[in-house]
Amino acid sequence: MTHFSYTDKANKQGDILVVPVFDKPGDAAVSRMVDDRLGGAVAHAVNTDQNFKGKAGQTLVVPAPADSGYKKLILLGLGSGKAMDSLRAETIGGKLHGAVSATGMARVTVLADDFRGDTASLAADLANGFLLKSYRFDKHKSNAPAAPAYNIDIIQDNPCPARERFDQLAPVSAGAFLARDLANEPPNVLNPETMALRVLSSVTPLGVSVEVVREDDMKAQGMGAFLAVGQGSNAERRPRMVVLRYNGTGDEKSRPLALVGKGLTFDTGGLSLKQNMSNMKFDMGGAAAVAGTMAALAGRKAKVDVVAILGLARNDIGPDAYCVDDIVTAMNGKTIDIQNTDAEGRLVLADCLTYVQRHFKPHTVIDLATLTGACKAALGSTMCGVFSNDNRLSKRIQNSGVKVGERSWPLPLGEEFTKAIKGTYSDLVNVGAGAPGASTAAAFLQEFIEGATKWAHLDIAGVANGVSGHATMPDKIGTGFGVRLLNQLIIDHFEKKPKAQPTPALKAQ
Ligand SMILES: [Zn+2]
Repeated sequence: MTHFSYTDKANKQGDILVVPVFDKPGDAAVSRMVDDRLGGAVAHAVNTDQNFKGKAGQTLVVPAPADSGYKKLILLGLGSGKAMDSLRAETIGGKLHGAVSATGMARVTVLADDFRGDTASLAADLANGFLLKSYRFDKHKSNAPAAPAYNIDIIQDNPCPARERFDQLAPVSAGAFLARDLANEPPNVLNPETMALRVLSSVTPLGVSVEVVREDDMKAQGMGAFLAVGQGSNAERRPRMVVLRYNGTGDEKSRPLALVGKGLTFDTGGLSLKQNMSNMKFDMGGAAAVAGTMAALAGRKAKVDVVAILGLARNDIGPDAYCVDDIVTAMNGKTIDIQNTDAEGRLVLADCLTYVQRHFKPHTVIDLATLTGACKAALGSTMCGVFSNDNRLSKRIQNSGVKVGERSWPLPLGEEFTKAIKGTYSDLVNVGAGAPGASTAAAFLQEFIEGATKWAHLDIAGVANGVSGHATMPDKIGTGFGVRLLNQLIIDHFEKKPKAQPTPALKAQ
């Protein structure tokens, strides 16, 4: 656990004092003032070390002067003196975590009152970056050392607005952690049933209502595409659909925003067996991100109405598994010829999309799915693909994602892709032979969007796990990608704005 406190008075002692340094000598006036108190230790360290340039996120650890009350100083590069934005502050906070954790020390004081820009807000962003990077998933190691209990004092001229900003950021990071926790669990721990129960116990206390829909009900609804995917699984791993509702406006009649997540708790490929299925536990990353987003929204009491559907199943092999050449009927009546049992995510999503539109009449539907290797091949692990029937929605997703470092890039829908998924024996076929995989998968989903519903599909196959060297995401393991993007999109475009309140003037005159 990491504990952050915001105050305008520095403790006179601790393990580490963090001193921000701009990248141009002479641009660090306030740091010089601080440095006088440190007997010139900062200037001495900067002049002695050839490599430390004060670049954004660069750190230099040096012994603290004996009479300072601290054991070490960390010089923290802020980059140029130009106005900083919240993403840069967060990135720097993530890098600071790396430097602090390498010292093995835990009591940290950060002098955070000299950022160029909205200093109070940026101090909170820096703390949030530290928090995001502190995530660990060691629960299945028998000898893992306990996670360090960091005590971080953020020194700020304006501690109140900094704390208020952090109180809005921390629930979103908690949502990202929930998504990471779910994604990282192995498939013998997390199956559709246990994932549904975990989500239920995580978000119910926050005020999200949860309904777990079981197979009988799904059958009664005619969800033949979704059910086909899970029909080869044993009794403990049967498919589940989880319906989450968060009503943040108090208006019960408003049309909600809908989020839909693909949740394959393991994907063997089915009878079209994968050759390499390491890391296929992450095939529920979309559902994890959607669950984490609901936790984030409820945790910060967002003024928005959202309904979310998690489509949970395992794609197993066995005597009852669905078969290539099977023709199944989706909830909207369309028939689908199965030409590859490994193209299962779109079958699960198809029925979830129909279900959410028929039952909740959302104005906008956004689905998240680790859907195609083709998307990962195109965009790598730095951004996800976005497909949409509404250019403005697509742009908004891209722009909001940039703000929080969860970027997306538009990929096409279109007639050529729609044509590629027309069936010979049925309405649709679940793979578009010879056509680009990411776009045909998206075109398949589009067949399940009704009327004028605005819709976007995020293919997160490249970013849900396996990222490395990122400032605030963990290496290799589940990233929780999508929680912060969706939360920011909702802040920017879907949330009712509170009436502007004058910022309390706390700064001493
Ligand atoms: Zn698959």
